[in-house]
Amino acid sequence: MIARPIAALNHATSSGGIRNHSDFSHVSCFKIIDSTLREGEQFSNAFFDTEKKIEIARALDEFGVDYIELTTPAASEQSRADCEAICKLGLRAKILTHIRCNMDDARIAVETGVHGVNLFLGTSSFSMKSSHGKKMSDVHKTALEVIEYVKARNIEIRFSSEDSFRSDLVDLLSIYQAVSKVGVNRVGIADTVGCANPQQVYDLIKTIRSVVSCEIETHFHNDTGCAIANAYSALRAGATHIDTTVLGIGERNGITPLGGLIACMVVADRDYVINKYNIKKLKAIEQLVADAVKIDIPFNNYITGSCAFTHKAGVHAKAVLNNPSTYEVLNPADFGIDRCINFASRLTGWNAIKARAEALSISLTDAQYKECTAKVKALADTREITADDTDSIIIGFHDAQKLGVSIECVRK
Ligand SMILES: [Zn+2]
Repeated sequence: MIARPIAALNHATSSGGIRNHSDFSHVSCFKIIDSTLREGEQFSNAFFDTEKKIEIARALDEFGVDYIELTTPAASEQSRADCEAICKLGLRAKILTHIRCNMDDARIAVETGVHGVNLFLGTSSFSMKSSHGKKMSDVHKTALEVIEYVKARNIEIRFSSEDSFRSDLVDLLSIYQAVSKVGVNRVGIADTVGCANPQQVYDLIKTIRSVVSCEIETHFHNDTGCAIANAYSALRAGATHIDTTVLGIGERNGITPLGGLIACMVVADRDYVINKYNIKKLKAIEQLVADAVKIDIPFNNYITGSCAFTHKAGVHAKAVLNNPSTYEVLNPADFGIDRCINFASRLTGWNAIKARAEALSISLTDAQYKECTAKVKALADTREITADDTDSIIIGFHDAQKLGVSIECVRK
């Protein structure tokens, strides 16, 4: 540990001074469908027993996600029992299950007590040839039959194409218009293979927005690292719901991470996000899921990574000590997280040494802080140093000043 928390500092502006976009109304009323218990179950390391699923569902509910999506009850007997158990918890979040678009799965799903059913069906030429083998006319027929069946039971329904960005646009618009007309709550757009970029997302969602009157849900895989940016672009274009998982876990390298979406949206509309979601719970829920799937939270994770709020270079540390907004677009206090100043390197500046000395109840003149900093830099030029090394230099320097001798004498 080479960085230590420093006293709370106030951000001068709530969102780092970012100006809102003109189409801001689209991004300020989004809903989160968290799919850690569906997409996340497809993560290579994931195995959630019933107890763990319930613990994660409760944590997501406390965080305030709008929907929790569960694995299809048609997957296995235990999946069905778990789905029923979570529906019975009486959570505030609505419970969805994600099923193939066929009558057998729909019948099983509606009997579990879910609030909503998320249908998916491949519409790309790859799916039509290699997956379900249906023609587009058959896709329409099946979708409408299943939608009618679910709607008749007063259960919320979404119809999503799979691999939307590699599907024929005319086919896509035609199926979305058809399902919108029969009254689905949402259509879903899924970048199943993670090939889309933010501009393509904006253009497709804008086009779909112009042909359907219902809500639009989106699902972005992260194969090219665009999952968060794509979610943001989708909201700007008129999408209403974003699929996330905790830490982004999912098939291959996963989907839009809950924490990354939250980070992005706090910058866009801090007040909306902190009023709606219990963002101080983010770190705990990420740790819960990381432990469950036996991974570490990455060092560079949005908000909760070990380095997310650590400042090292002298120029950065000085400015952050004066006004954190200079180098922080997010306020760690919003997430219940401490900011750190790394004061143990050759890049350390005297303002950081002064702040550290004050934390140790040591007061020196500015000239003395600068002299003390030179000693820290000199040692750091010879080897990697720790916070304890810096502390002992500061304390030794202070003692030497009191005794009127050099720090080297004190050390001996
Ligand atoms: Zn997916």
